[in-house]
Amino acid sequence: MTIEQIIKKAKENNPNTDVDLIKFAYEFADEAHGNQKRKTGEPYIQHCLHTAFMLAQIKADQSTIIAGILHDVPEDTDRTLEDVKELFGEEIAFLVEGITKLSKIKYRGVERHRESLRKMFLAMAEDVRVILIKFCDRLHNLRTLDAQPDEKKIRIAKETMEIYVPIAGLLGIWRLKWQMEDICFKYLYPEDYKKLEYKYEVEKRTERNQYIQKIKDILGQKLLDQGINYKIEGRFKHLYSIYKKMQTKDRRFDEIYDVFALRIIVPSVSDCYKTLGIIHSIWKPKSDRFKDYIAVPKPNGYRSLHTTVFGPENKATEFQLRTMEMQEESLYGVPSHWHYKQKRGEKESKQPNWVREILKIQQQSETTDDFINELKINVFHNRIFVFSPKGDVFDLPEGSSPVDFAFLVHTEIGNKMTGALVNDKIAPLDQVLKNGDLVEITIQKNRKAPNQNWLKFVKTHRAKEKIKHAERVSRFEKLRKMIPGIK
Ligand code: MN
Repeated sequence: MTIEQIIKKAKENNPNTDVDLIKFAYEFADEAHGNQKRKTGEPYIQHCLHTAFMLAQIKADQSTIIAGILHDVPEDTDRTLEDVKELFGEEIAFLVEGITKLSKIKYRGVERHRESLRKMFLAMAEDVRVILIKFCDRLHNLRTLDAQPDEKKIRIAKETMEIYVPIAGLLGIWRLKWQMEDICFKYLYPEDYKKLEYKYEVEKRTERNQYIQKIKDILGQKLLDQGINYKIEGRFKHLYSIYKKMQTKDRRFDEIYDVFALRIIVPSVSDCYKTLGIIHSIWKPKSDRFKDYIAVPKPNGYRSLHTTVFGPENKATEFQLRTMEMQEESLYGVPSHWHYKQKRGEKESKQPNWVREILKIQQQSETTDDFINELKINVFHNRIFVFSPKGDVFDLPEGSSPVDFAFLVHTEIGNKMTGALVNDKIAPLDQVLKNGDLVEITIQKNRKAPNQNWLKFVKTHRAKEKIKHAERVSRFEKLRKMIPGIK
């Protein structure tokens, strides 16, 4: 990695980039780290450059990129934070200081999970850019993890899964989230990883490419006929998400794999809806699988239309339809919001509204508990975020119970649910979940149906529907037994 590559990327994002300042940051950090080496044997400055490059890739602004270059200087060299402040100014020094503070968070197992999360939230509240630097720093450390002793590999991978990954999801930076997950997967479950990688990369590649080509041929022509410019991508399903589905849904690779996923990028929002109409006119939609996240974006700002249809050969095929702006937002999350605002010339400060809101709340709260509560009500609009034992984040309406959580994870988890652990303690099924709770559902494999009494306390529409549905199914089963021949 060279400083020129970083400058090139930064200029793509913003032509007015101060090239001299970036070069100067490089020379300063390079001199400060001197002969230091990474465990891989590379010069230490390579780690700083890789971190900065990833920041430029997710369209972080110039100060963040420079802070990325400087991020280990106060911690690991003779140069101090004061030196950074004097040479690069308050803003960059503030970001570097944030990173230095965060590096003091040490992972101490699941029991300290909430505490670490809280600290990350606090750092995020001060300036979300600190978290972005931390993510890119971590991602490069993960990529070079092979050079570390085994015990450290596992510790870093676990910590990443439990703390970094959920927050990357909250901020909608999917690109970083996926990359972190796949690397951690490799270290935490090496055997499963190897098997899955072989299946996906070697056995199934040709089949996948042929199927996607078929869709492109059929749909592409129709779109052109309607005058819609489009780009179709066969969506890269990352290995960890396949693995997770195999675990939670207890299904074989082939069943999950056989859901083909495509993404179509079109120029405007109205083209998204037109394209949806065209897809539904060619292939029959699976009725319960349509989601309009353009009209109703997800809490983290995610926008797209999702639909699943029975495609060629009757294979379930998932489409995501979006504009280029939505595409970049979904890959890069929060940073791309600023990027587009700047491009449109909107005078907007460095942070999106909800992040500034966090900052305000943090200044006004006396304790972290106050802070988390305020956050919940004012920023996430009465949504709470809870975590699965594997560190996945799920958002639920306030007042939700472990039963709501179970049905959100998967219908069968809800149907077969017998109990719940909340923060490692046995909890009643109607317990009201709190932001940051770690929820684990216990199931009994041969249990058929959920308890109808759960209807009295569940909050989500999804759980209510699933419980009612199970009741209808069992009523029909009884009928069928009583009257042979009924369908
Ligand atoms: Mn570092």
